[in-house]
Amino acid sequence: MISPLMPTYKRADLAFERGEGSWLYTSDGRCFLDFAAGIATCALGHAHPHLVETLQTQTGKLLHVSNLFRIPQAERLAERLVTHTSFADSVFFCNSGAEANEGMVKMVRRAHMLAGHPDRSDILCMEGAFHGRTLAMLAATGNPQYLEGFGTPVPGFYHVPYNDIHALRAALTPRTAAIMLEPIQGESGIRAADRDYLRAVRALCDETGVFLALDEVQTGVGRTGSLFAHEWAGIEPDIMSIAKGLGGGFPIGAILAREDIARGMTAGTHGTTFGGNPLACTAANAVLDALLAPGFLEQVQARGALLAHLLDDLIVRYPHILAERRGRGLLIGLRCIPPVSVVQNAARDAHLLCITAGDNVLRLVPPLTVSEEECRLAITRLAQAMDTLTPEYLSSL
Ligand SMILES: *Cc1c(COP(=O)(O)O)cnc(C)c1O
Repeated sequence: MISPLMPTYKRADLAFERGEGSWLYTSDGRCFLDFAAGIATCALGHAHPHLVETLQTQTGKLLHVSNLFRIPQAERLAERLVTHTSFADSVFFCNSGAEANEGMVKMVRRAHMLAGHPDRSDILCMEGAFHGRTLAMLAATGNPQYLEGFGTPVPGFYHVPYNDIHALRAALTPRTAAIMLEPIQGESGIRAADRDYLRAVRALCDETGVFLALDEVQTGVGRTGSLFAHEWAGIEPDIMSIAKGLGGGFPIGAILAREDIARGMTAGTHGTTFGGNPLACTAANAVLDALLAPGFLEQVQARGALLAHLLDDLIVRYPHILAERRGRGLLIGLRCIPPVSVVQNAARDAHLLCITAGDNVLRLVPPLTVSEEECRLAITRLAQAMDTLTPEYLSSL
């Protein structure tokens, strides 16, 4: 018999009753150190006092009014996002990463159409990309496994090898509207674009009038230790999607665009019933209150550096299990030698929650508020997990 909850996820047999900071508690009293953070969404950890208080207050006033009226919380959030990015002039709010990416594609196509180039509608994407599970974003993702059985892929999306500027240049045509990429590919294994590559992509876009559309759904909102990951490369996108960490666990996505793209999105051109409602924007404003406080991002960088240092030691100690560390800030990947699910399960048995990514990578994405002590404890637990994975056990798999 099928369960009433559709079986689209392989779930761990664990249910949590409550959380606090970097910790999750089951109703029978077990506690887990949470380096999964709701798949890199719970930026402030669980039950963060400021987030809880502002959401409780807002819940007692208004949840939703629709975009037929002004929403001061959305106006404030948009203004803050514009202020804290170098390129963005205007913001559209939605509910998820895939929805933000869909809107991003619509916007770049419309901008070209309004500029007199209706044929410029192709989107160049990267091999190994992940942009979401809606029909068009499945085509943008391009992973045959995700596309199987869902009909003809949405046309207009093409793929080139990541980090290969020559391949990208060769794939450009007069029909290319935008290059869409993640500064660090998350789902496919925490694979970072080189700084020089991103700069060359920016230069190529400037040269050809193709828009640079960055998917910072996972890398954005402080995850890599800067507010947005593209800042590390010293480049600006023309348009960018964000989502995961933005609401601190509450669903909200956003598209940030420069004026020349945003100008075309006049009344009636795009919409969403729930997007940017007072509650969601209150959550995101509370997240920004924390992230923009002096020293917060520096602390994320420091925690990331500490974990990197400790993990490099683990790689030396457990060369038969851990092959390589990847990522930046608190978006960390560890490529494993045995099947990553074995390592993930062993970590969970040691009461450390991690997630996986493609390329046999164990993904560590703790709350951005994680303490130094919790980082050290996570490493201790990871080492305990490694100790249970004896060579004899691993060879018996
Ligand atoms: C998670 C993710 C998405 C999809 O976000 P949803 O909210 O699940 O639709 C898109 N792009 C990237 C880079 C992601 O990590």
